[in-house]
Amino acid sequence: MNKPKVLITRQLLPEALDQVSEFADMEVWPDTYPPSPEELRTLLKDKHGVLTTIMDRIDASAMDSAPNLKVVSQLGVGVDHIDVDEATKRRILVGNTPGVLAKATADIAFALLMSAARRVSEGDHWVHDKQWELAFHPLHWLGVDVHSTTLGIVGLGETGLEMVKRAQGFDMKVIYYSRTRKPDLEAKYSIEFVDFKDLLQTADFVSLHVAYTPETHFLIGEPEFKLMKPTSILVNAARGPVVDPKALYDALNQNIIYAAGLDVTYPEPISPDDPLLDLKNVVITPHMGSSAISTRRNTMYMAVENMAAGLEGRKLVACVNPSLYQDLGI
Ligand code: NAP
Repeated sequence: MNKPKVLITRQLLPEALDQVSEFADMEVWPDTYPPSPEELRTLLKDKHGVLTTIMDRIDASAMDSAPNLKVVSQLGVGVDHIDVDEATKRRILVGNTPGVLAKATADIAFALLMSAARRVSEGDHWVHDKQWELAFHPLHWLGVDVHSTTLGIVGLGETGLEMVKRAQGFDMKVIYYSRTRKPDLEAKYSIEFVDFKDLLQTADFVSLHVAYTPETHFLIGEPEFKLMKPTSILVNAARGPVVDPKALYDALNQNIIYAAGLDVTYPEPISPDDPLLDLKNVVITPHMGSSAISTRRNTMYMAVENMAAGLEGRKLVACVNPSLYQDLGI
């Protein structure tokens, strides 16, 4: 019997590809850069499944070229690059990978928080630039404390919750704002729900963990920065366009806030001419929140399993449009 055909849009770990070969004939895009939209359309023509990364835009036009497509399996949690409504109309299942990468993402978010507060990255650059001439001065390299401060989490999903746990190890008070209030988590972790404006005004650290949607586009802009404390630090490990980049630059440059730690930017990659790169009070990592080896391996296994399930007419481990199950008789 012929195996279904799948496209894997980037090289994966060999052990993950071995798993795919057990149930599908696969084509693996060999380049480091993603296929162009036109190349993607051509590659999808005869495919029943596609395993994507955030750089592969799966919109109506991509789906038009893929009449056999049954499943889109995203390597990651965020699916803002996939037109899920359009996929649902076409009875295409969309899978993603919650549950395996939130801890790693929170590790990076917390590392950024600490680095921005205690000037770790700035100090490291300075030492590497061979500028360390005076061993110690009581007034040099002063940052702001992390312990015993207030962390404000915006978007209490999986990563936000992992931030709560990390913050509690640092004796931080945690307040949160999310689309839906979570009384069970409030009781379990002694955290407090506040409205968005209160959070911005009160928190020493504002850490963003919302999904990127039309409602969260530029959630943090000039008015929001103006509400934040001048000593506060913004952390964004969600998606770049949750923050207005011009307002972010002004807030950091004019010391409206103290610093920022970013794992995501808008656009990505950040332009080499972006003025943000000239500021010392911002730490930027290149969207590497979930890039830890065992996390990435588990994420690949989950995306492969989602793909297999979608092709074989089983429920996915995690499905973004489960309303389709009934339609598909799963
Ligand atoms: P998640 O468990 O799906 O949580 C997302 C949260 O966003 C949900 O809890 C939801 O709130 C909240 N939310 C959505 N719209 C909102 C709105 N309009 N206002 C307030 N809250 C809103 O996802 P996650 O694993 O925590 O990841 C969060 C996001 O981070 C992902 O969507 C992805 O874009 C990004 N991410 C980045 C990396 C990286 O490498 N930097 C890695 C993983 C994920 P409710 O639950 O209250 O409805």
